[in-house]
Amino acid sequence: SKDAIVEQAKRCVKCMECLRTCPNNLPIMDAVNAAAKGDLSLLSSLYDQCIGCLKCESVCRAKLPIHSMIVWADDVFERETFKIRSGRGAIKDTEIRAVGGPIVFGEIPGVIAFVGCANYAYGGRDVYEMAEEFAKRRYIILASGCAAMTLGMYKDEEGKTIYERFPGSFDAGGVINVGSCISNSHIAGAAIKIANIFARRPLRANYEEIADYVLNRVGAVGVAWGAMSQKAASIASGFWRLGIPVIVGPHGSKYRRALLGRSDREEDWFVYDARTGEKVYCGPVPEHLFYMAERKEEAIVMIAKLCMRPNDTTKGRAIKLSHYIDLYRKFYGALPEDIHLFVRTVADIPITMKDEILAFLKEKGWKEKTIPDPTLLPRLIRRRE
Ligand code: SF4
Ligand code: SF4
Repeated sequence: SKDAIVEQAKRCVKCMECLRTCPNNLPIMDAVNAAAKGDLSLLSSLYDQCIGCLKCESVCRAKLPIHSMIVWADDVFERETFKIRSGRGAIKDTEIRAVGGPIVFGEIPGVIAFVGCANYAYGGRDVYEMAEEFAKRRYIILASGCAAMTLGMYKDEEGKTIYERFPGSFDAGGVINVGSCISNSHIAGAAIKIANIFARRPLRANYEEIADYVLNRVGAVGVAWGAMSQKAASIASGFWRLGIPVIVGPHGSKYRRALLGRSDREEDWFVYDARTGEKVYCGPVPEHLFYMAERKEEAIVMIAKLCMRPNDTTKGRAIKLSHYIDLYRKFYGALPEDIHLFVRTVADIPITMKDEILAFLKEKGWKEKTIPDPTLLPRLIRRRE
């Protein structure tokens, strides 16, 4: 009860140990002291950002049940009722047949998987807002485990969760819960199925060709916004070795690892054109394979950028670029400085931004480039010149 929380809070000895130990730097001591004076609002406001690690309780010199006080101050058990789409398991072959083409050619701008633990630095709303932004833009949204539950915890002004607003099919604008954390394999499985069903790449003993296909053609990105465990790190590495970039949230810096590309080094971004055997500059797509973002806005822009692939058709690249530029403008208030690296021909330029981007490209000394049939594997070249 409120009175019990107030009585407990009065025992605080202001040692500040809770402040020092909280991974999210929450103002616990101030909240507890406000509670001691009868004001529970600060304590209850901590709930959204508290990850429930109990580190504060383990160091508290007054042995206060701090996490329980936060939970009870917020009346969590009264108001936390949500709807979540049930975990549906593997993506069906028939679904892959229907959307394999639009994904590979870039007309569905990307497949974004929200995965990983709930170790969020600023609360779970970030994950919901990221998923909503891309679902509205008709990307395919996949979710698993804690991230899938987080998506169901926020409602729009009509009281509907994201699962009630978007369909559950593997198609543009769908929001799919594949299942628990171990169902991440179904997300990797969808990418592998695109290579197998749509492009007829054999599955057996053929990882290299499939990863080459996914890296160069399937615009998929994983987002582990609350990644914490070693398991999450190994899942992330399973994705990036398959050619799918992964973005982690602020706590991901504790992994002490990143796989960052250098877009300024032109020599790093060549692929073979499987039609001719020529080495062709394809631009920094995808630029990074493991990236840590500080804030949701940075992650959103990076997701849109990392969905680009060398194989995008001009129509597909124009769609992807229009989202990237639009999101960059929305959050940074300017044109991205690297557009010239992603425009291969004039037809790649989003039609509504043509004049502005052509002027920008002229400033950068941009020249038209070939669009390759991309591969990194010499044995897949069909004809050598
Ligand atoms: S349980 Fe919540 S308040 Fe306590 S240390 Fe963990 S994140 Fe901070
Ligand atoms: S650790 Fe406990 S006693 Fe110390 S300031 Fe925080 S709530 Fe108060």
